[in-house]
Amino acid sequence: MIKEGEEPHGEERRRQRRTGIAASPGVAIGPAHVVDRRKVPVPRRSIDKADVDAEIHRFRKGLRDTQAQIEQIKARLPHGEHRQILKAQQLMLRDPDLSSRVERMVRDEHMCAEWSVARVADEIVDTLRQADDEYFRERSSDITFLAERVLLTLRGEDPVELRPPAGAVVVAHDLPPADTVEVARTEVVGMVTAVGGQTSHSAIVARSMEIPAVVGVDDIHEQVEDGDMVIVDAIHGVVIVRPRADELEQWEQIRDRYEKFEDRVQREHGLPATAKDGTHITLRANVALEAEIGSALFHGAEGVGLYRTEFMFMERETPPTEEEHYRLAKTVLRRVAPYPVVFRTFDLGSDKPTRLVDFSERERNPAMGLRSLRLALREREMFLAQLRGLLRAAVHGPLRIMLPLVSGPSELRAALDAVDEARRQLEDSRMAFAQEVPVGSMIEMPSAAIIADRMASHVDFMSIGTNDLIQYTLAIDRDNDDVGYLYRPLHPAVLRLVRGVAEAGRQQGIGVSLCGEMAADPRYTWVLVGLGVRELSMHPSAIPVIKNIIRSSEIEEMEALAQRVLAAADVDEAERMVLEVMRERFPEHLQHGGGQMLWVEREERR
Ligand code: PEP
Ligand code: MG
Repeated sequence: MIKEGEEPHGEERRRQRRTGIAASPGVAIGPAHVVDRRKVPVPRRSIDKADVDAEIHRFRKGLRDTQAQIEQIKARLPHGEHRQILKAQQLMLRDPDLSSRVERMVRDEHMCAEWSVARVADEIVDTLRQADDEYFRERSSDITFLAERVLLTLRGEDPVELRPPAGAVVVAHDLPPADTVEVARTEVVGMVTAVGGQTSHSAIVARSMEIPAVVGVDDIHEQVEDGDMVIVDAIHGVVIVRPRADELEQWEQIRDRYEKFEDRVQREHGLPATAKDGTHITLRANVALEAEIGSALFHGAEGVGLYRTEFMFMERETPPTEEEHYRLAKTVLRRVAPYPVVFRTFDLGSDKPTRLVDFSERERNPAMGLRSLRLALREREMFLAQLRGLLRAAVHGPLRIMLPLVSGPSELRAALDAVDEARRQLEDSRMAFAQEVPVGSMIEMPSAAIIADRMASHVDFMSIGTNDLIQYTLAIDRDNDDVGYLYRPLHPAVLRLVRGVAEAGRQQGIGVSLCGEMAADPRYTWVLVGLGVRELSMHPSAIPVIKNIIRSSEIEEMEALAQRVLAAADVDEAERMVLEVMRERFPEHLQHGGGQMLWVEREERR
């Protein structure tokens, strides 16, 4: 209790405990590095009278370059509404009143362009903020955004460059996939973002780079300052900002315990994932970058079950060439040998945008729009170049090609025709390539899962992508944290689909793997194996924990749990059943394991 006149203890007052979604497991402690591109320092520099014209010229060029940058961003955005916002901002930039006010300030007051832009923007923002009409008040944030972009352009800075110091916890409003990869390349220890969900692509990249991450922590970037101590509990999705000293000490112990458990399971990395009765489950790695191969091998992956090639297409002006595909695949195959590598053809779209494609402005429902295989079939040259590169690389090792987001047999046939065309092109050009390359289909849409038997007759293997399968089956946007609580993998509808696909694969004698995030979650291991899935592909750091569970279990007990869960009346009952068994048998693993603790917490609140 604070007495009158007494200030609360500074540290105490500023401490914050916030919750979000645990997106990449682990515990991280470190000083915050806030990524807020909007904070741009403004130089106050006066200029000589003789330099006025040159300064105005510089300002006009800055405006033009900013227009061009916005044009580029617009081209990368598939979502109609966002594009409209950018279009409106481009119109504002063209407003002659804005530029003449800035130029007047440069000419009359002899101030540099940066200072003049900032001053004029402040004046406009002040006026707008006082408007009665909400529409005008809201425009003030557009002006702030535009002014900051013009300032950055005038300073000649690349707005996407992020360089957090080693040992830092990156705190941001949002990190699109390309930025996450940039951040992950530096030695940051943790990541916290204000938006995003469990299977948003920044979460996936954080997981594959083994950076503990909590996403969906509302306005966290506004609550934290550079250098503030931050604890990231990415097991339960909690972030503690400016912790008390005792708390910090306690969390350092938790982090050490966590890392010890990790070391213990990691010791089994050379042993097979074989259940007690001898059933072998193949555990493979999901990777997005060649840089992650080391981690996959270190954690004992028997190959790569999902290579997300779309990351090759991001942040570039021209598509990767056949030669680039060939060289990357060859390098990866050599490193992973003798194990196979499943290269998934590019899965670009709204959630993994590229500036290489001009998405239609009408794209109002991007998850159901022009993405993935649909895009590949439209951008045929880009697709054929990738297929040729992969077919050529296959002479160097066991390469497999996997097609994403296939809706059914006709679309599958269209994609297989493209594979044949790529083969013919290679024959014509007399390039060496492998004749027998297994081609598989991802099963990510309910339509494909329901007729998995038909799909199975066209391909050499199938892989269930539960991230999308759940999204489309339950109609839950996987990137929208407002509906994240409805994203429930144990929904009976999802489980029946998984069982059906496993069964179709078994009957047709082809392999079925599961490469969605569900595979990495220790709570689901028994259910998935019990439903008949014999190959799981996951982010590398999850492999040792999942392997340890499999090695400690009998196939009968896994099947028995799967049968019970299939018979559950609803998802609540299914979750209760699974949690009860798994928590009893694997308390440490569950503590350790990745994400989606939301329903566990819901369970506990009951
Ligand atoms: C999936 O949808 O489960 C999947 C593995 O593909 P991605 O997450 O890349 O869409
Ligand atoms: Mg998918």
